[in-house]
Amino acid sequence: MPETENTKRENAKKEKQLPYKYPDNFSFKEMIKTSQKLSNVPSTWTEICNIMETASKLQQIRDVFGQPIKVNSGYRTLEVNKAVGGAKASAHMRGLAADITARKKSDNRRLLTVINELADDLKFDQVIIYIRGTGTIQWIHIGWREENPRGMLAYKSV
Ligand SMILES: [Zn+2]
Repeated sequence: MPETENTKRENAKKEKQLPYKYPDNFSFKEMIKTSQKLSNVPSTWTEICNIMETASKLQQIRDVFGQPIKVNSGYRTLEVNKAVGGAKASAHMRGLAADITARKKSDNRRLLTVINELADDLKFDQVIIYIRGTGTIQWIHIGWREENPRGMLAYKSV
């Protein structure tokens, strides 16, 4: 079916909402992957835009960090979020959160320092630092929300 003027206009509008450039180091595939045997595909345009915005923010962190950042979990469908025991209203379900780690867990402390330095730019809603026993940061959850980001920082032991 040929593209109508309307469709063209709609598409142009959508494209405008996207970050100018898709981040180099965070593929869409990586942002929606899951270890669960469940489909994990976003179903709305808003979710897709959110996932791309989250990826852009991660790129901002990575550019300063200067090393690869691994995404353990990004977007989650309701089913996937349930399966992994995520919070009931988790930002992961809106594509607005990622659980990240440096390649070496010993570098996660520096990763956290970078996030802290960029806090004014990142405007995150919540950062949760998951720590095991002696104090090694296992992974970092970073999440955003549509309005009034709280800039909260919390620790959880795992
Ligand atoms: Zn998380």
